[in-house]
Amino acid sequence: MAAVKDPYKTLGVDKKASDDEIKKAYRKLARQFHPDRNPGDTAAEERFKEVQQAYDVLSDPKKRKEYDAGGGIFGSGFDPSAFRRGAGAGAGGGFTGGIGDILSDLFGGAGGGPSPRNVPERGRDLETEVHISFPQAMEGAQVPVAVSMAAPCPTCKGTGAQPGTQPTVCPRCEGRGIESQGQGLFSISQPCSQCGGSGTVIEHPCPTCHGSGQTRQVKRYRANIPAGVKDGSRVRLAGKGEPGRRGGPAGDLYVITRVGESSIFRRKGDNLEVDVPITIPEAIKGATVEVPTLNGSKRIRVPAGTQHGTVQRLRGEGPPKLGNRGRGDIHYRLTIDVPRSLNKKQKQAVDELEGLIDGNPRQGLFQGRGA
Ligand code: ZN
Ligand code: ZN
Repeated sequence: MAAVKDPYKTLGVDKKASDDEIKKAYRKLARQFHPDRNPGDTAAEERFKEVQQAYDVLSDPKKRKEYDAGGGIFGSGFDPSAFRRGAGAGAGGGFTGGIGDILSDLFGGAGGGPSPRNVPERGRDLETEVHISFPQAMEGAQVPVAVSMAAPCPTCKGTGAQPGTQPTVCPRCEGRGIESQGQGLFSISQPCSQCGGSGTVIEHPCPTCHGSGQTRQVKRYRANIPAGVKDGSRVRLAGKGEPGRRGGPAGDLYVITRVGESSIFRRKGDNLEVDVPITIPEAIKGATVEVPTLNGSKRIRVPAGTQHGTVQRLRGEGPPKLGNRGRGDIHYRLTIDVPRSLNKKQKQAVDELEGLIDGNPRQGLFQGRGA
């Protein structure tokens, strides 16, 4: 059990830090300590969780306010494991009844609709990135992904209250979770400003989760990346997102693929593009040249009189299109390779050619400009 950490210290920000500053600090640290970047490094994983935890608190205005207000209670020297020893001995005992039971005691038999807290809730969808090489993107790959998700806090069993204490009925909304402004037809209902709609307030927040009732855990999966993904493709892993609450289904996990560059091929939509240098004589006289494909090489025809930048296609030689739509093409962009220096004999030949090729190709540029 990690000692209680000040979320401001964890993120290295000032108590007066703006939302933007907090987000920036979080992103930087989350990237630095991400398990994908530090495989097998448990210290980094621990730091990663702490950073997530701190961000959970500071990114939520309500939780941040609660933390700021209650900071003194568990500011220093507080050892949550003391409480675990006292209250948590033997799972299923003590206070494990949780908030559901507390609320059903409070609201049992009361009229009105079901409490929104009892409705099954689907877990949130999550997103993570994987970095794969260009060949992996072309052929498909199975890659490990690690994703951090919220789980019930082990210290308070998800109630958010310091062990030995319980959430109490919100005095502002008297447990309804909503407050109304105005009267009669014109009254407007909105989530209670004090409890945020939960109907309860936590006077003594749990020291581990700062009252959120959740901590972070890192889950690892192997994701099947289909052949043909692009940089930025989203691969859905159904049911691998955050667990549902009160029996609701789990959310999905979206894996965003970051594809490394190839030194040869460039991705252009469903197709690939390659620059193919040709010599001046090949451009003038035409030729058949060997070009690379994804798994070998083929020959393409360069017609006589080929201009710089002309594109020749090989259909169906490109990457697989997602969703079984066949394969894309490879576009070969012919670039005329001009020698940077010539020997004497070559220079003579060019001089001769210059005398034989007449006409000014730039004439068109100056016509109709007005005198
Ligand atoms: Zn807790
Ligand atoms: Zn309230």
